[in-house]
Amino acid sequence: MPPLTLTTSIQYVKGVGPRKAEALAAKGYRSVEDLLYHLPFRYEDRGHFHPIADLSPGMRATVRGRILASRLIRTRRRGFTILDAAVEDNSAGLSVIFYNQPWLKDILKAGRDVILFGEAALSRYRGRPLQMVGPQYEIVSADDDTAIHTGRVVPIYQRLGDLSPRMLRSILHAILEALPAELPDPLPPSVFARRRLMPRGAALRAVHFPPPDADLDLYQSRGSPAHQRLILEEFFMLQVALGLRRRGMERERRAEPYATTPEIRRRLAAILPFHLTAGQKEALRQIVGDLTSDHPMNRLLQGDVGSGKTIVATLAMILAVENGRQAALMAPTELLAEQHHRVLGRLLEKTRYQVQLLTGAMTAARRRPVLRAVANGLVQILIGTHALIQDKVVFSNLGLVVVDEQHRFGVVQRAALRGKARAGRTPDVLVMTATPIPRSLALTIYGDLEMTLIKDMPPGRRPVKTHLRSESSRNRIYDFIRREALAGRQAYVVLPLVEESEKSDLRAAVKMHAELSRVFSSLSVGLLHGRMKPDEREATMRQFVGGEIHILVSTTVIEVGIDVPNASLMVVEHAERFGLSQLHQLRGRVGRGPHASHCVLVHGEDPSDEARLRLRVLGESTDGFHIAEKDLEIRGPGEFMGTRQSGLPEIRIGNIIRDYDLLAEARAGAQRVLEEIRTETPAAGSRHQLLLDHMSRQWGARIGLMEVG
Ligand code: ADP
Ligand code: MG
Repeated sequence: MPPLTLTTSIQYVKGVGPRKAEALAAKGYRSVEDLLYHLPFRYEDRGHFHPIADLSPGMRATVRGRILASRLIRTRRRGFTILDAAVEDNSAGLSVIFYNQPWLKDILKAGRDVILFGEAALSRYRGRPLQMVGPQYEIVSADDDTAIHTGRVVPIYQRLGDLSPRMLRSILHAILEALPAELPDPLPPSVFARRRLMPRGAALRAVHFPPPDADLDLYQSRGSPAHQRLILEEFFMLQVALGLRRRGMERERRAEPYATTPEIRRRLAAILPFHLTAGQKEALRQIVGDLTSDHPMNRLLQGDVGSGKTIVATLAMILAVENGRQAALMAPTELLAEQHHRVLGRLLEKTRYQVQLLTGAMTAARRRPVLRAVANGLVQILIGTHALIQDKVVFSNLGLVVVDEQHRFGVVQRAALRGKARAGRTPDVLVMTATPIPRSLALTIYGDLEMTLIKDMPPGRRPVKTHLRSESSRNRIYDFIRREALAGRQAYVVLPLVEESEKSDLRAAVKMHAELSRVFSSLSVGLLHGRMKPDEREATMRQFVGGEIHILVSTTVIEVGIDVPNASLMVVEHAERFGLSQLHQLRGRVGRGPHASHCVLVHGEDPSDEARLRLRVLGESTDGFHIAEKDLEIRGPGEFMGTRQSGLPEIRIGNIIRDYDLLAEARAGAQRVLEEIRTETPAAGSRHQLLLDHMSRQWGARIGLMEVG
């Protein structure tokens, strides 16, 4: 193979070719460099195989043997097949079983040598006491490159399109052979001078083909110096990319900065129903600072559940309106959008501000006049769901967008917002998170935003007492609900999403509503779910807010944002099915007024250890930041963020939790480099050009980077 460079298209690599290259391109792998960053997910020590005779049930091991015979068994169940291969090394024999993969008969043929990795179990067959079911396998062929695949520590890859783990090993081996020993390194040595950075070429070589004396455990856990160097590189690139994005936004100029005259300040103060806390005041001060500066705002406002973010956002929106702009408030659910509309409507009743609601649940006939009024500027504050930015809503002069109760509104989603303002004008953006976000995630998802934290709570709040109870305490829980209701308080009873279907979800809620209506015949029990017509839903919420409904049975639609201060009891059914942050959110629906409040987490008779551990965290802490950290630890970033539309930039090598130290180090390094780039004169070119090129190649698409450099 002729010499390669990092940017060579992978179709020219031996063993790939145009057809496979096309399939790989669809997965985002185009160049030799892309493929080099497809790291093994596991290593296997094929210098030493385990003698089959030494295996015992439950043991995971790699063995090597010869296939003596293989047969396909068709069972009585139609279409169900079992492949049974007898494999033997010079110590003993083993059955290898594959279900429903009849084509393996042509691969696992008698006479072939095979390497197997899997868990040994007791076999049903006499003569061969042990079996492996569905092990990872690899045929050892007699061709020339066996030295790549056996007799050493070998990398095991995740299959990529048509490329099997074994093919990938050959291809990566060939690539590394054909590349020069030293590779251009985008990490500026000056930045990481204190750390002896392994050169990039050496690190890539080592992670794919570990040296003979490698500590395999360290490699498996991605803790080897080679891995650490590549993780640092990945985090560093991400942080530089986010930093440049932020700078791109900062460079944009605002046509006319906001003004805050004494008259405007007086009007803001006039609508305040209470005194702001110190945290709220400071948050507002920072936001006003942004709005009166020459650059668009991009700010994240964090604060625990109930810390009072809404009023801060409301004041910012009024400031926008006072400056002749429109403001939009986006909520994750229609229910919350409706609440915001209700609350802002009341708050601004005696003012001249025009507030309107726009949701997907509204009929076309009701939407039409709203859309018109938004387009011609009559509506000054528009409240809705996230559909506001997807829809064909046209604003006459959108100035400020507030994204409420969000932890999934990532870098890419925010990019979509920019199109909404009038041509050439970027709206000011304020993102408010639902639960607090652990710092590691905040740095990756919101690394391009300024951050504000409200640390205090409105006065007079008492922490919610949390009780873990099992099904068997149901009667006592009902007594508790009754006592609270008779004392004039109100309760929520929340049911989880049973399956990925709203229907069954609904059925469970309807059933519970019927049961509670029977149990509490002298009280008023309401029902709330996502499938109700907006009018019914609005009516039910109004009754609950007004105290006419004592007990509200609900699906998770009330999870975020809902604010009814007189409610003092939250009962969560099947609590083990919720994530920690979700439970913390639900618990945050109570404890919003002066009353002592309680949260009862009801779990099944026998929750798993993991569930028990999770629920205990909630019983022991009311600190949203602590709970978020734990949740992230237990579920990992993908799950924590919600797998769909997470807004999380794709991180391939590092793990922001496990490698948090490297993330922090990368961020500090990125800040230094960004500062150096900022002070360069454009004519002289950047001395970080290598870094910038590498970054737009590797990160451009991943974070929707639009204007770099
Ligand atoms: P979150 O930060 O969870 O969105 P909200 O904005 O819904 O919290 O506020 C929670 C409750 O606290 C609301 O009922 C709100 O009116 C009230 N509140 C907010 N700020 C204050 C304050 N400074 N003093 C008294 N009550 C406040
Ligand atoms: Mg809120």
